[in-house]
Amino acid sequence: MRRGMIFVFFLLMLSGCSPASYQSGKYSESRTLMGTLVRMDICWDKAQGGPGPQPAMDRAWDRLEEIGWRMSNYNDRSDVAKVNRSYGSPAEIGEDTYGVIKDSIKFSGLSGGAFDITVEPLIKLWQASAKNNVMPTADELALARSAVGVRNLDMMEDGRVQVLHEGTSINLGGIAKGYAVDEAARILRENGMENFMVDAGGDLYVGGNNCRGEPWHLGIRDPRDSTKILDVVLLRNASVVTSGDYERFYEVEGKKWSHIINPKTGFPVEHVASATVIAPTAEDADALATAVCVLGAEKGVELLDSQGEGYSGLIVIRDDQGEITKHESAAYKKVRLLESN
Ligand code: ADP
Ligand code: MG
Repeated sequence: MRRGMIFVFFLLMLSGCSPASYQSGKYSESRTLMGTLVRMDICWDKAQGGPGPQPAMDRAWDRLEEIGWRMSNYNDRSDVAKVNRSYGSPAEIGEDTYGVIKDSIKFSGLSGGAFDITVEPLIKLWQASAKNNVMPTADELALARSAVGVRNLDMMEDGRVQVLHEGTSINLGGIAKGYAVDEAARILRENGMENFMVDAGGDLYVGGNNCRGEPWHLGIRDPRDSTKILDVVLLRNASVVTSGDYERFYEVEGKKWSHIINPKTGFPVEHVASATVIAPTAEDADALATAVCVLGAEKGVELLDSQGEGYSGLIVIRDDQGEITKHESAAYKKVRLLESN
């Protein structure tokens, strides 16, 4: 038996898809995709037979690559770019992107407009502000805001999409990664894998149990110090996503601004250090985490509590002195293992 395990280990090391590793029943690979480090861990041992984890993983990577470019704002041929050029001429896009846009519109409704993929003109404005190191003017903010709103998206019945306002454009940065993680999970399952984790830069989905046969233990990072964790949650067949202002931000005139923008004010979100959402799918968790950052503690908790079975979260608020307070949704205690801080 032991000899068999060692043999499998070497075989996998030699199969060469780097960086890959196989250790005590866990097979892992990582790639940089969608602007982040994506990792897949699959629990697998030889006794399971079949083709092993590699074909499943290869198919999942292909799908992630595809979603990565088709839902990107930085590729002229992407579905998103097509939608953003669709004023006066409807765009033909992939069914999957159409579905993600539809879901995004649903989340706008659920969150009272806090989540809104049409914030792109405001994102552009803040990117330019950071580049030029000058705050946007009131006029610039008003102009960008006038194009924001999902009412400006026409989801045509034949699967095409068009923007109804000349300045309207979309950005799927708050939801596409979650969707991609769900797709990877679906493909791993379809290819016979039951126990696995997909981690797209902190957007996580776990299938089944961990490689020791227990629910997955997932640490929630402390927004003040990324080497520390705030809590550990125990999950099976569920997602946990954290959004926050600690990794990506705009810096303008010496001040750091969150990359999440309040569509109502046109300003980046302040005071929400991080929002962690647990949900049955990573797409839901991703969109809700972004929405909760905009809504803040009270309304954020309300939104999570209203989502029903399987939805919960933790919101960390930072005051002007840098002190933090934690706010839990009602169902959060069902998944939390311990508080380390
Ligand atoms: P990440 O996981 O990359 O930190 P998030 O899920 O927190 O991303 O979403 C932030 C991204 O979503 C932003 O970088 C931007 O592309 C987009 N975005 C910003 N504000 C909003 C908003 N109010 N609604 C929807 N998407 C937004
Ligand atoms: Mg998100």
